[in-house]
Amino acid sequence: MHYHLIMTERCNMQCRYCYGKSMHEEDNALNKFTFSLSPKQHFSVPLEKLAAFLAKDPNPVLIFYGGEPLLQPKKIHQIMGRFDVPYRMQTNGLLLHTLPPQYLNRITKIIISIDGDRDRTDYNRGKGTYETIIHNMKRARDNGYRGELIARMTISGFPDVDKQVMHLFDAGFDAVHWQLDAGFYKADYSIGFAPFANEYNSAVSRLVSEWMTHMRNGRILLIYPFVGIVASLLSGEKTKLRCGAGHSGYAIGTDGTIFACPIMNGFQEFIAGTLDDSSLRTFDVEGNCETCDIRDVCGGRCLYWQAAQLWPDEGNKLICQTIRHLIHELEARIPEIRTLINTGMIAPETFSYEKYFGPEIIP
Ligand code: SF4
Ligand code: SF4
Repeated sequence: MHYHLIMTERCNMQCRYCYGKSMHEEDNALNKFTFSLSPKQHFSVPLEKLAAFLAKDPNPVLIFYGGEPLLQPKKIHQIMGRFDVPYRMQTNGLLLHTLPPQYLNRITKIIISIDGDRDRTDYNRGKGTYETIIHNMKRARDNGYRGELIARMTISGFPDVDKQVMHLFDAGFDAVHWQLDAGFYKADYSIGFAPFANEYNSAVSRLVSEWMTHMRNGRILLIYPFVGIVASLLSGEKTKLRCGAGHSGYAIGTDGTIFACPIMNGFQEFIAGTLDDSSLRTFDVEGNCETCDIRDVCGGRCLYWQAAQLWPDEGNKLICQTIRHLIHELEARIPEIRTLINTGMIAPETFSYEKYFGPEIIP
């Protein structure tokens, strides 16, 4: 099982699409659910209690998460000193250099929030952000980091996902994924989303074409949404919610309360249990997803989005059309991908990947 550890509820950034939108939305998800902030701002679970909980799981994976997890470096040292398990982290990257290599190099997959090139990233996240992240990544590599550095983009307002994804590979990331900033705030839906979605779909089509061109030359770009969906199409598996929330992954809050996912930290409706429990409550997407004809491939985008229903129906349908477009584009490439595998041009294990540690498959 994968566990996000909420190291702190604080963040050292004020990004346009996160902090910015939250500050300007009065009628938000907090009015739909019962929300209570943990009395503990930073991760305060006794490690012996966490140890007793993890001992019940044969394969725990711990993911440092926040707020910004690197605001709590000493706690990270303590946890890593206590547990010999696989570690992952999701961070904004600004403080990457503050974790000594003996710790950082053991966190073998690190998701860093970055939205594309310098202009795009700095527009969303503040001047100088891009440069700091790239500098910190280089420093990590120079200090022996050999793990996977994954760019996590938020697509907000600009549909050119193809250009930005390719930029991030050129900038040195090993993998890229993204999430559409759509359906997570009530106030940001407008009729402008329809033309945006059309342009975004065209950009996805271009990116799939570019991905295939590289594949024909034997180079596999680890674009998580593509790899995850193609893996399912090749195997014919029926997928559950692809982030794992509420069935294969949970978030452990700062006081030890366990939630379906880190975004729902504090929402009483999504409490899955406590560290004393030997089994956790499971969750699944409801509503339109239950009767959707592509549910077994999509998995249901997001438990939070589906439960919160912050956008009107027509907006949610447009989001689902982007998912449908993405899946259809990849489905059309399956015969050629099978041929590339059968002729030995690409290895069959190309599409094996670790699920549930954070990369979005359905944007
Ligand atoms: S396409 Fe939309 S309705 Fe269908 S399963 Fe995915 S999120 Fe649910
Ligand atoms: S996709 Fe939705 S349910 Fe899954 S982790 Fe993200 S916010 Fe939570």
